[in-house]
Parts: sequence; C-alpha cells; structure tokens
Amino acid sequence: MIKVAKFGGSSVAGAEQFKKVRAIIEADPERRLVVSSAAGKRFGDDHKLTDLLYLCHAHLTYGVSCGEIMHTIEQRLVEIRDSLGLKYPVERELEELKARLNRDMSVDELVSRGEYFTSRLLAEYLGFAFVDAADCIFFGFDGQIDREKTDAAIAAAIMEYKKILIPGFYGKLPTGRIKVMTRGGSDITGALAAAAVNASVYENWTDVSGILMADPRIVENPSPIARITYAELRELAFMGATVLHEESIQPVKERGIALNIRNTNRPQDAGTMIVESIEEKEQSRERFITGIAGRRNFTILTVQKRNINISLTLRQALEILDRYKAPVEHITLGLDSFALVASSAALGDGLYDVIADIQKTCRPDDVRVQDGIALVAAVGRKMTFRPGISGKIFQALGESGVNIRTIAQGADELSIIVGVENDKFETAIRVLYDGFAG
Ligand code: ASP
Repeated sequence: MIKVAKFGGSSVAGAEQFKKVRAIIEADPERRLVVSSAAGKRFGDDHKLTDLLYLCHAHLTYGVSCGEIMHTIEQRLVEIRDSLGLKYPVERELEELKARLNRDMSVDELVSRGEYFTSRLLAEYLGFAFVDAADCIFFGFDGQIDREKTDAAIAAAIMEYKKILIPGFYGKLPTGRIKVMTRGGSDITGALAAAAVNASVYENWTDVSGILMADPRIVENPSPIARITYAELRELAFMGATVLHEESIQPVKERGIALNIRNTNRPQDAGTMIVESIEEKEQSRERFITGIAGRRNFTILTVQKRNINISLTLRQALEILDRYKAPVEHITLGLDSFALVASSAALGDGLYDVIADIQKTCRPDDVRVQDGIALVAAVGRKMTFRPGISGKIFQALGESGVNIRTIAQGADELSIIVGVENDKFETAIRVLYDGFAG
C-alpha cells in the first residue's frame, strides 16, 4: 500500500520543518509518495517563496531590478541546504535561472521554481527520487489536467523508483511550457498523485490539527472535526471555511480514497478524516452539527406581486441577475412574493439597474432591498431527515436576540442556512456552536 503525503508551505518553511517532515516520513514506510509546496512563512511577517517569485515577475514587468528579491530567495534556500548538510547547488541553479529571466521565461515557469527548488532539497534530504512535475503532471490543450497521461506517468515513476517526491502546483502543457495551477494548487497535485497510485490515504500535512468546527477567530478553541464526508466539506467550504483547494477533492473522492488533514507540528494528532460516507452505527455518538461556517455581505431582493405567476416572474428575475453576473445563492418563495439572495459585492453598482430591470420586466407591486445580511450555515449529515433540528436552531437564535431574516435548507438536508444582520454574524455562529456543536 502507498500513502501519499503532501506537505504545505509552512511544513517546509525552513530546516527545522524539514526535520519534522523526515520524522513523519520515516515513521511509516508506506509514505512513499511525497508532494511538496514551496517554502512558506516561518513566522508572521515572513514571505512565501511563491509570493517572492510573483513579486520578482512584477518587478521585471516594470523594468525594475529584482536582484534583491532573488538574493532573499537564495538565502532562504542556502540556509536550508547548509543547515541540513545537503549538496544541491542552489547558487548555480539560481544563476541559470537569472540568466534566462528576461529572455525565455514565462511567469508560470518562474513562480513554479518555488516548488521546484524546495522539492529538490527535500528529495535529497529524504533520500527520495525527485520526479519533476513537468514529467508527470500533464495539462491538455484546454488547460485541464490530462488525467490518463498523468496517472500513467506517476504510476510508472513509483514503480521505477519506489519512493518519489513530486513538486506541487505545476505541470506541463502539450506545447512543452510550464503551467501553474491556481494558488494553493499543491493540494491538487497531491490528489492527482493519490489517485494515480490508488493510495490507501491522501495525507495533507499542514499547520493545524484538522478542520475546526468553527472559525477560531469567532469561537474560542473550537473542537476539530474528527470525521466529515466530502459532501459536508463542500458545503462548509462553499460557506467560507478555507481548508483545501476546491479542485483537490474530486480526484480522490471519485476513487474512494480518504483524505486525512494532519498537523506537521503535532503528528500525534489524528487530524480530520474526510471520507465518502460514514456508517450510521459509527456516527451514533456524534454531534448533530459537523461544522459551522458563514459569510457576510449579502443582499435580499424581495419581489412582491398580487396573483403572481411565480415560474414566469421568477425566471425573469433570475435572468436579470444572471445578466448582471450576480449569482443567486438562495431563493425563498411566498404566496405572492419571492426573495432572492445574492452577494452584495457581486451586485455592486449594478443593483440599481437590476431593480429597474425587474420593475420594467416583472411589473411587480413592490421590490424591496435589504443589504448587510450574513449567511450562517450549520452543516451536518446527521441533520438529514431528523425532525426538530431546525426548530431547535431557530429557537436558540431567537433566545439570543438574533433575528432571522431568511432561512434555507439544502434539498439534501445537509445544511441549514440562516440569514441574519451582519452585526449578528458572530453571535449567530457562537450560539450555534455552543448549543449544538461544542
Ligand atoms: N506555493 C503555491 C502557493 O503558495 C502552491 C501551494 O502552496 O499549494 O499558492
């Protein structure tokens, strides 16, 4: 069996972190495929290599020398190499890079070097074969990952070398040029690698002991989530919880591979296990709510019209919002009205045109606008088909003086979402956490 271990930027930020990574790898011989991010921040106002490289490119674009930034990058890499007694010729490689900077190097290739250099050092330190992502992560002409080709290349590499390390975040286009993924993309590389070798688990090593039940900036010391399904995670992520790169879920989910979020600084913690499904009997002792997340700044547009033809008027209103590129998050229906919830930022200055268009096309009796709304979601598979849960949630919020402006429940009953005033956002999250999750 093979376990894929992906280490994020903070896990490979410096020599001390490299040591922790090696201890983790040596603790389990099944951890034979490693994916690494670029060295991240070692402390609060430190810089990520990737950010420095993007900055370098910006300097080049404006004709400003990036010598100083390059020097900072070199120092970071040399420090890791020298304190661990490694041999990788950082200076020479950087010289070659600098020589090519103004000539034939794209921004993608330049920023991909953060992962490349960090992984070169880590591979040497772990004694793993370095397999360049340019030789095993392939994009098609459409810019999407060519799964078949990628699977075959990674499977062949692990067969040949047994223990391999692949830099995250980038791959190769059919033209031979390097393309990077969106930020945080090493998560995707890890997922592709896990899928390619049919890993027993995809371990995603970071600096927190798993996904927390609520934002720790709002709830003091929230418990970590021990187990969560992919569907629940999607709901939480959509509602603002930032955990993994969105595109890293599908490759492992479709092959039934569990994803384990772990803490490089506390390897003794079990972290969060993300799985396709959890058997009923296993979850009987678990809480109703798996996690709570939310986002501020939504606008509710309520359209009122006596004897309304709901399907016609709703369709017209939806088309109008679509034209103004404001995705509708929720719809609630009344007898003679409906309400649409959309992000205030997406509506922007277009709000007044949207209202004017609704007036003109739908000929309503009234259009009401309410902004400053926050959406708070309580997510939990255990809420599905259980009577009474939403009642309890509404009661708890009401008793704490939180006025509920809108209510939505996903059709699959995985989440209950309430709209409250922006200034009650944090209270609502705390009430839900204290009452149902803690
Ligand atoms: N180094 C890249 C970033 O900072 C990719 C990653 O870390 O996953 O976004």
